[in-house]
Amino acid sequence: MSETHLTPDLELNGLSPDEAFAVLGNEIRLDIIRVLWHADATHQYDEVSDIVETMSFSELRRRVDLVDNGQFNYHLSQLCPHFVRQTEDGYRLSGAGKQIARTVIAVSGTEDIDFSADLEERCPLCDAPMIATYEDQWLRVSCTDCDGQFGDETPRGSVFLSNYPAATIADQTPDEALRTGFYRCMLDNAYLMHGICRECAGAVSASVSVCEDHQSRAGDPCPDCGTRSQVWVEQRCDTCRFAKHLPVEVFIMGLTPVIGFLDQHGIDVLAPSLDEIVDILQHNVETAITKDPFRVSVTVANGTDELTVILDGEMNLVDLER
Ligand SMILES: [Zn+2]
Ligand SMILES: [Zn+2]
Ligand SMILES: [Zn+2]
Repeated sequence: MSETHLTPDLELNGLSPDEAFAVLGNEIRLDIIRVLWHADATHQYDEVSDIVETMSFSELRRRVDLVDNGQFNYHLSQLCPHFVRQTEDGYRLSGAGKQIARTVIAVSGTEDIDFSADLEERCPLCDAPMIATYEDQWLRVSCTDCDGQFGDETPRGSVFLSNYPAATIADQTPDEALRTGFYRCMLDNAYLMHGICRECAGAVSASVSVCEDHQSRAGDPCPDCGTRSQVWVEQRCDTCRFAKHLPVEVFIMGLTPVIGFLDQHGIDVLAPSLDEIVDILQHNVETAITKDPFRVSVTVANGTDELTVILDGEMNLVDLER
């Protein structure tokens, strides 16, 4: 590999996930990453500039507060070069070290909150008040009255649920958190429908489940599958296992032609309101299945204007009709 300012003359061998867990599984090493992060000892703009801060060995040891020189040296050497880089001027975090620091920051913060009392948004299905809770990195907005959007596939009453980083949720009102969560979710769909994992850029595999005798009348869940959607899809990253399990009608909203179609009709599908999305799902989409070859067709309508997307069993877009 050619030498760049990011990889000064060193051999970078790959690190397996198990090796990375082993290297990071130590309090002193995580403390070294923490100290370098706080001191901004990084490339500030990664590959786009040469601005770099470093910290000397003695300063780093003083701040980590470890008296035993040999022990400190050993732990620091375990982090180099994958997570920490040694340069002529001192030590700094590598790109991987920065990523670890960011992840730790994103997941630290409020453990759980019940901010139901402040939620202004009402249930888009039945107009009853909703409750908002945050627990174990999950934001959940549920109706206090009806059975919610997803039937038996989620806890009763769920209208929206998504993973949400703990670092910033306490600064948001529940309505703001719902809007932010929605945006992140819709972007996830765009990534996944493109076959890319947003967490690790790995390839995504889809598996489709179809309710063969699906009956959903007047918006009530089907007695067979317990949901309103005949087709549910799991999209899972082959590398890091990031996954989403949703009705196909929600996933197709991440396709560029659908984003364009809805935009023409005044709906920003990347930043929609809950009412807009639920209204589309309840009244303006229709799904059909054909076999040999297996195809899922989803038609989105707005007045007399219709767009049909036709997908195969791996969620590839194979045809488009307007
Ligand atoms: Zn409701
Ligand atoms: Zn069904
Ligand atoms: Zn991944």
